[in-house]
Amino acid sequence: MAPWQSFPAESQFALAAVREASLLARRIQREMVTGALTKDDRSPVTVADYAVQALLARRLAEHYPGVALVGEEQADALRLVEGTRVLDQVTGFVRAAVPDATPEEVCNLIDRGSGEPPAVFWTLDPIDGTKGFLRREQYAVALALVKHGQVELGVLGCPDLPLFVGDGSEQSTATAQPSVEADGSLLIAARGLGTWYQPLNGEPSWRQLSVSARKEPGSARILRSVEKSHTNVDEIGQLAAKLGTQETPIGMDSQAKYAVLAAGEGDVLLRLLSPSRPDYREKIWDQAAGSIVVEEAGGRVTDLDGNLLDFSHGRTLARNRGIVATNGHLHDSVLGALRDLSA
Ligand code: AMP
Ligand code: MG
Repeated sequence: MAPWQSFPAESQFALAAVREASLLARRIQREMVTGALTKDDRSPVTVADYAVQALLARRLAEHYPGVALVGEEQADALRLVEGTRVLDQVTGFVRAAVPDATPEEVCNLIDRGSGEPPAVFWTLDPIDGTKGFLRREQYAVALALVKHGQVELGVLGCPDLPLFVGDGSEQSTATAQPSVEADGSLLIAARGLGTWYQPLNGEPSWRQLSVSARKEPGSARILRSVEKSHTNVDEIGQLAAKLGTQETPIGMDSQAKYAVLAAGEGDVLLRLLSPSRPDYREKIWDQAAGSIVVEEAGGRVTDLDGNLLDFSHGRTLARNRGIVATNGHLHDSVLGALRDLSA
């Protein structure tokens, strides 16, 4: 049993809100990402991004009206005449959960997330891994509560990630039998209280997650982005060779990667800087929930230089470069190999 009585007061709210939002995202994907979509049509993810941010902003405004939200999306494009059609679609989906929502309110809700972060705030990525959403692969709804530069609570909804975690014994996703169809995952992590998992379908059993025990760099399973523009795939290949790992790095979109690492199904997660964007700084909503999910499962998260992530510098991790997240055992080996590669 998760020690709910010790969890932050916001926990049950955050779980319910992310579950509701994840199911909305899944519904939009199933209705809009169809075979008829042309290759460049991003409209399903646009609609889902806005609808999920509006819905979560509404739930946050109902329960925590005084706490700021820092979200990825802004409603500027929806307020233009050209945005009317998308705004109508977004409002239609939001109304399934909030029947009285108007297009104007939807825009205002989305824009609740557009400011600079104060000392205490929620941060939201409504659809993390938009390319995965469009490919019908992995994506995540990521919500976190940040206080004074430190993530205190993180919730990840991964509608397409089945984590068949066992009862603490050494079972793996490939071999463990879920007691019911586990077609998606909901994870919560609170500072000092561990990382917990439940199937998204609401089966009321919670399991505590822990990272893998692998200590041998040669057997490390590496997780990385699918999109080449979000990382450095070649350098990750070189790093894998340097570690001597026999396993091919696994490409996966979104913070689902952090859930997989936390569940012990991967050992090392790398966000190296893309050669096309060497000055890129990570967005806080892309890392907040995922990082606490890994840390509270016993893992370690730093930037490429080994520094802790610092969430007190605006909407990006302005003082950090890239991300290294591991099961802890392999962290120093990975940082060392990275140093050798850039020497
Ligand atoms: P992933 O699913 O691992 O590809 O990560 C998705 C996230 O990468 C998105 O939410 C973007 O905010 C972020 N992103 C966009 N451009 C870059 C970039 N040049 N380098 C790293 N991450 C990026
Ligand atoms: Mg994102």
